[in-house]
Amino acid sequence: MTSKLNFNYITIKSETDSNKEYEIIFVSSDKFDTPIEITCNCLGYLYHSKCKHIDKYDPSNLDSWKEAVPYDSEKNKSKITKITIPSETDSNKEYEIYYNNSKITNKPFEIMCSCPGYIYRSKCKHIDKYDPDNQNVWNKS
Ligand SMILES: [Zn+2]
Ligand SMILES: [Zn+2]
Repeated sequence: MTSKLNFNYITIKSETDSNKEYEIIFVSSDKFDTPIEITCNCLGYLYHSKCKHIDKYDPSNLDSWKEAVPYDSEKNKSKITKITIPSETDSNKEYEIYYNNSKITNKPFEIMCSCPGYIYRSKCKHIDKYDPDNQNVWNKS
């Protein structure tokens, strides 16, 4: 059995430049009603892993996530790829590691995992092991 994450997004306008739009991606697991993670495609998030949009649109602050529609890696601003990894403790289980790849730098700027550790605590050993800065497995995703 493989556990998966789902990705939905909304488009927001830049507050400083009305020609610019960003995408807020909500990451969800079928174990929870509300998204477990939120990411953004603005340059602030791309280079520093944080931005004001993340706080503003956080599912605990605003209900915007309810209007989110499925993310499309071909059409949207970044590309989400994945690899499947086996559970080390249960050979019947598989998890998915997801990379959010920037179309500007052509590299992953974010990694997510569908295991319970990540879903409940936003961190897990897989994230470190498969970190794109550590090794090149993401190239195969
Ligand atoms: Zn942002
Ligand atoms: Zn994990």
